[in-house]
Amino acid sequence: MLAATGRIDFRTFLFSNVGHDSEHPGTLDYIERYAAPYAARHGIELVELHRRPTRGRSAGQVETLYSRLMRDGSRSLPIPVRMDNGAPGTRSCTVDFKIKNIGRWLTANGASDTNKATVGIGISLDEIHRVNARRAMPYEVPVYPLLDHDPPLRRQDCEGIIRSAGLPVPPKSSCWFCPFHTPQRWAEMRRDEPDLFAKACHLEDTLNARRDELGKDHVYLTRFARPLADAIPVAGAMLPIFDVASDDDALCDNGACFT
Ligand code: SF4
Repeated sequence: MLAATGRIDFRTFLFSNVGHDSEHPGTLDYIERYAAPYAARHGIELVELHRRPTRGRSAGQVETLYSRLMRDGSRSLPIPVRMDNGAPGTRSCTVDFKIKNIGRWLTANGASDTNKATVGIGISLDEIHRVNARRAMPYEVPVYPLLDHDPPLRRQDCEGIIRSAGLPVPPKSSCWFCPFHTPQRWAEMRRDEPDLFAKACHLEDTLNARRDELGKDHVYLTRFARPLADAIPVAGAMLPIFDVASDDDALCDNGACFT
């Protein structure tokens, strides 16, 4: 909306889709029903990117994050699953399925060390701490249009701008199985999207069955060191203290997830 009304000067927007089976269905639905038609109506280029490995048997084909997690015999654990102590493990998902995709598109379209692309990151004033840890890629100059706006925009301001354009507010973009979800978000999924919650339980069980075969400790999608179905009550049945905001510290500082 800011670009459509000339308040920021960006004509191309990139959406790196981690997979039709991995990105939250609400985000994919929003892109199809609202974002893409709105962009087309206002002459804005909205480019959807997918990961396509360049080597191996599946070279050139779209690979999704969920399919990588569920592949038979896979030892790959690219998402930030949580260990017994609740801390998230290292992850490669954001780099492999978002940052590299975006980098590939930028360099294919002329970005380089000597001809850097200006890349706008949608971090709002409420999340300004996420800017600090972000490292620029050699082919880009990151800018923060929501922070540079006069006045700087909070998430609530952005929601108001979206509503005033006659569109519904989109959900935060993330994978439906992301271990960075807060307990509240999991509890709402259990209440409102029981099939998706069951699928997340199945994913966690599958990862742990595989780890049993390898003689490794279990991993979890929440910080409670218990299976998702035991750890998360249905929303509304949860004590407020259960949902402390400390998980925000673990969010993706790059701005590629959760913006
Ligand atoms: S949303 Fe979570 S699981 Fe998905 S790419 Fe980002 S960090 Fe990884």
